[in-house]
Amino acid sequence: MKRTTTYGNKNNSKKKYIWFGASVVVILVAAIAVFMYLKQNNLNNQTGVPTPTEVVEEEKVEPNDTKPIEENNPPSNTPADETDKTDINDQEQQQEEQPTSNNGYIEGQPLPTEPTVIEGVLLANKKYPLPSTFAPGESKEARKAFEQMAADARIAGFELVAFSTYRSFEYQDTLYNNYVSRDGQENADRYSARPGYSEHQTGLAFDIGEKGKEDLWLTEEFGETEAGKWLVVNANKYGFILRYPQGKEAITGYMYESWHFRYLGVDLATKVKQANVTLEEYLGIQ
Ligand SMILES: [Zn+2]
Repeated sequence: MKRTTTYGNKNNSKKKYIWFGASVVVILVAAIAVFMYLKQNNLNNQTGVPTPTEVVEEEKVEPNDTKPIEENNPPSNTPADETDKTDINDQEQQQEEQPTSNNGYIEGQPLPTEPTVIEGVLLANKKYPLPSTFAPGESKEARKAFEQMAADARIAGFELVAFSTYRSFEYQDTLYNNYVSRDGQENADRYSARPGYSEHQTGLAFDIGEKGKEDLWLTEEFGETEAGKWLVVNANKYGFILRYPQGKEAITGYMYESWHFRYLGVDLATKVKQANVTLEEYLGIQ
């Protein structure tokens, strides 16, 4: 019995093992299936497997995101360009509003075809240039007046020299550009005229110094010498005026030039001197 029982038990045990094994397999398979299902669901939820739709949406979104950027970039460039243009416009407007800001010159102003004469006075300054072809040579009338003045100055004890009078357009061009090379344009514009703008081209301007004191030619110090002072007091009697007095640079366009005299004729020179004004102020063209 015991053996049978044992045997029967053995048979029963085998069956139990088989059922148990099968159950385990079934459970495992089910568990794996559930696990796989859940895993699949998880993945789907994470990636949003309605994938086809969302991928398409993403593909749609990407171009949509890119386009605004591409559209934004050009606009963001455009304002920058517009800003630059605005700056240039401002600069142009400033130049238009302040035509004399360029060292007294009007930038881009072409030289005229005819010289400017106001109240019988032939003009040559930074506002009223001369034609490049205007070449009258030294004024004989002015030369004669200077010689008379020099003769009287000699009696007073000074030997006056007119070391620079008529200068052609071409010569002024060379002279001015040499000064620009040496001192820069901004400085050169204070004491040397650009070609076409020089009063020396009229043949009526005389740069005067004293013989034996050449080191003072073209210097302010000449104005402090006896000869320089004598000229300021007496030049009008011969038809000359000190053309670029001290403190009048804003009006004449030039720094004080103790040596530069302009022939106007005795009558006008005396009127300008007595009015104690510059030629520009006297003519009302400052
Ligand atoms: Zn001069």
